[in-house]
Amino acid sequence: MNAHVLGFPRIGLGRELKWTLESYWRGEASLEELLSTAERLKRRHWQVQMQAGLDLLPVGDFSLYDHVLDTVAMVGAVPERFCRNSAETGCAAYFAMARGEARSSIPAMEMTKWFDTNYHYIVPEFTNDLRFRKDASRLLQDVRTVKELGGTAKPVLVGPITFLLLGKSMDGSSPWIHLERLVDVYSDILKDISGECPWIQIDEPVLCSDLSPKAHQEFRYAYESFAGAKGHARILLTSYFGPLGDNLPLAASLPVDGLHLDLVRGAEQLPAALEAMPSEQVVSLGLVDGRNIWRADLDAAAECINAAKQRGSESKIMLGTSCSLLHCPVDVALETDMDPSIREWMAFAVQKCDEVAALAHFAETGERNSLFAKNRKALQARAANPCAVDKSVRARVDSLTPKHYERGSVFAERTKVQSVRRQLPLFPTTTIGSFPQTPEIRSIRLGHKKGEWTTEEYVAAMKNQIAEAVARQEELGLDVLVHGEPERNDMVEYFGQQLNGFCFTSQGWVQSYGSRCVKPPVIFGDVSRPQAMTVDWARYAQSLTPKPMKGMLTGPVTILCWSFVRNDIPRSEVCRQIALAIRDEVLDLESAGLSIIQIDEAALREGLPLRAADHEAYLRWAVDCFRLTAAGVRDETQIHSHMCYSEFNAIMEWIAQMDADVISIEASRSGMALLEAFRAVSYPADVGPGVYDIHSPRVPSEEEIHGLLKKALEVVAPERLWVNPDCGLKTRGWPETIASLKNLVAAAKRLRREY
Ligand code: GLN
Ligand code: ZN
Repeated sequence: MNAHVLGFPRIGLGRELKWTLESYWRGEASLEELLSTAERLKRRHWQVQMQAGLDLLPVGDFSLYDHVLDTVAMVGAVPERFCRNSAETGCAAYFAMARGEARSSIPAMEMTKWFDTNYHYIVPEFTNDLRFRKDASRLLQDVRTVKELGGTAKPVLVGPITFLLLGKSMDGSSPWIHLERLVDVYSDILKDISGECPWIQIDEPVLCSDLSPKAHQEFRYAYESFAGAKGHARILLTSYFGPLGDNLPLAASLPVDGLHLDLVRGAEQLPAALEAMPSEQVVSLGLVDGRNIWRADLDAAAECINAAKQRGSESKIMLGTSCSLLHCPVDVALETDMDPSIREWMAFAVQKCDEVAALAHFAETGERNSLFAKNRKALQARAANPCAVDKSVRARVDSLTPKHYERGSVFAERTKVQSVRRQLPLFPTTTIGSFPQTPEIRSIRLGHKKGEWTTEEYVAAMKNQIAEAVARQEELGLDVLVHGEPERNDMVEYFGQQLNGFCFTSQGWVQSYGSRCVKPPVIFGDVSRPQAMTVDWARYAQSLTPKPMKGMLTGPVTILCWSFVRNDIPRSEVCRQIALAIRDEVLDLESAGLSIIQIDEAALREGLPLRAADHEAYLRWAVDCFRLTAAGVRDETQIHSHMCYSEFNAIMEWIAQMDADVISIEASRSGMALLEAFRAVSYPADVGPGVYDIHSPRVPSEEEIHGLLKKALEVVAPERLWVNPDCGLKTRGWPETIASLKNLVAAAKRLRREY
């Protein structure tokens, strides 16, 4: 029986990788120190897995920055601009690709989300003249280390089809032109490692997405070539993040020795997959969830194992996690501050290794060890916990009618009565919500959290910050003001901390990209709002100025997408509960006199399922939840939403259905190109395409902003156009913020003179 995980979190129990990387980048730690930290972490992670009793230890899942970037390095697909300076090889070139090279102003490679996770990978760049060159030295070194430790190494490679499909062409040439050479390089690598390892894992998560006939054909070509190159090693082809669906016949007919199935997200595919797979092929059952933090239902998993066993001898089964554990925190044992009864429901990476081992033991012996009993008990306790089901929340969701999702009138009518419109000039200027989170602001929050500041002192200090932000905005001449969000550490955590049904880990860090980690809140019970969350701050901010102040909230879909979510009820239902809680807050803000309320849905697009066929169902409930949040207000109240991304084309109709009065979006980097999507659906309401890229400290000139606005006016009617940055300003400093906003206001004024 082979028990394995598809990959282990890299960042380290105490985020050691983060700290060492950052001190290496600052020039404080040496390369040797960085590499020795990496070595220590890898060894520790292999040891954890060996101690749990796992047989195959992943090698190559660890990375100093990103595993797709490692693949770029391994196959030598290094973009030309990083090859010029031949003195810079090895780590320097590697980090230059990831982060850019400031001295010679070489831009970094792009980064984007890894499928539908919150992990970001470096996007491979393809050009017609790209050359490949194998460098598998690191992989081989790690294989040797595992051997020294007395383990069996299982090299993990990003598959060539996934690699090509995740990259982008820089010169219009098709990435497929590289397949043949790429397959040669992979084949070479397979030859190098095949003598050392019984299994080689090749990850092709694209198998769980929509694939073209061309991709199918290229899959066949690649894996037929590998069959000839792998020697005595066996290839385990992995699919994850969903069921194989219509790619099952392809996957089951490739000449590989094993096929891995994600049986968490694709639980229903097992019978069909077993039917389709040739009898000599090993099935790897991905039964332990790599993307969530709950203990596994081992008894249910045992049923799957029994079903798989009926297919033949047990040596044809492997036991594993659904996907890499990269998306999980490391060890729940560190959560000593958490309510122990809730902690009992959870399993992080270390605990998931034990779960896989327990399942493997069951598959081998038919015996359910003590972990089965433990998990059963925890799951029962979880189901019976009074927080899991709040009857009043359930009743409220059940009693929703279509009316709850509809504003009183359509946009064209509402806009006539929105008094704030009469107050505003053409091309109103505003910002997205947050202002720079200065060291002073952070220290006030920290002081309060540690109990060094009384609540009165804290509130007074925060009010000072708000007053300062309001004064600055008035001085700049902005038209719609914000309070600046100094009291918020994070746009999701801030709300989660005030809602029932949420809890927080203290060490539950998950890698987002490079050295960056996030600590998602945990939604464990029915969600409700015990009391108003933002009203006092908003009311205070409005009292300081005659100008309209925006009440500022995070939307339900974003709160859902950036949390670990309970898995005992559908996500859509959790989202509806959050939507009701935020709806109450919206109504309280309205009663407090706020004439504009912004509900941010930064993550609406990233929640989009991998398969086009599933988009509609998701968008239906996601958009409904937004509408539920907003629809209770009077026509007079103006609802804004903000989305910080730019690929709208496919979902434009749905954005329109959110029925916000004003939406602000990211647009400056794409030079307003995305606005074409708004023309296509003749978007009915107001739009604020970002005219200032807040991701960089660069100050855009008045001229540049004016130019972007002129471009926007080719698509957006003048009376519908707002002027704002791309996103919140919390990561910026005040000097560049003030300089940029001055230019933004000046550009709007200039445009007004021209109209
Ligand atoms: N209102 C939030 C802010 O300004 C929005 C952040 C976001 O969209 N990511 O920071
Ligand atoms: Zn944003």
